[in-house]
Amino acid sequence: MNTPKKAKSPRGKTPSLIGSTNGRPHTATVQRLCACVRCGQGLVAGTTCFEIPRLGRFVKNRRHCRDCYDKILNKTQEDLAELRAILG
Ligand SMILES: [Zn+2]
Repeated sequence: MNTPKKAKSPRGKTPSLIGSTNGRPHTATVQRLCACVRCGQGLVAGTTCFEIPRLGRFVKNRRHCRDCYDKILNKTQEDLAELRAILG
């Protein structure tokens, strides 16, 4: 018999395409002056920045200013829409 396999109920937590094992973007309070990795804008101590983990040999949090984080989020949303579009 050549019948398709029946779907089992998926096990475990539903995975996400965004941030699973590497952690996800989060906010952090700037400890000492640093710069946004994208635009180079200074991030002043005591203000909030947005850390986006990037996979490497170890997870490195890349700090972003609000503007860049906002743009990245918008881009992510566009990409997600495309991913959803392939569902048909
Ligand atoms: Zn920036």
